[in-house]
Amino acid sequence: MDKVKWLWGSRTSGIRGLSSPHKTMEFIGVGDAAIAERVYSLLLTSAYDDRVPQKRPVAVEIPGAKGIDSVAITISHEFKHIAIYGQWGQRIGFTGPGHSDTDGIPDNVEDDRTPNSLGEIYRFNSRDPDCYRMHRYYPEKTHYATYGDNELLARVEGIYNPRATSPGKDWSKGGKQWGR
Ligand SMILES: [Zn+2]
Repeated sequence: MDKVKWLWGSRTSGIRGLSSPHKTMEFIGVGDAAIAERVYSLLLTSAYDDRVPQKRPVAVEIPGAKGIDSVAITISHEFKHIAIYGQWGQRIGFTGPGHSDTDGIPDNVEDDRTPNSLGEIYRFNSRDPDCYRMHRYYPEKTHYATYGDNELLARVEGIYNPRATSPGKDWSKGGKQWGR
């Protein structure tokens, strides 16, 4: 993997992954923290979910994965941010035509309530970039307030679609081949 010099300096210490799709659609950054075990679960609900009898929580953290499996989650997550940018072409943190809020997801997608559409499933709101109030749960990542909905989609992708991992190739210290 090529080394990419990321611009944000201290903001990147301790983070698992990083993508910057408006600069490059080809690279993501993976930090040392990506290998760390995932140890807690966090379920969040959209502030606009009025479905009864129950709102539908979405997992943004689930415990269990570590090492190569945890890295796979991070990589899948970061490429989802890139895929979202590739699909709609809107930078996180900016508004624009058809983008009333700053999460990079278009208004018509967020407000769609057609069955099984993204808007229907996740109960987004085009005037709220963090419908799940994700920033409240990550005090060190207050920027989630500007793109929590985008982050949510990347979390779901990482957790539920981490692609293949290759345990037979995991020769890292403490990895799946360690000590064999
Ligand atoms: Zn993310």
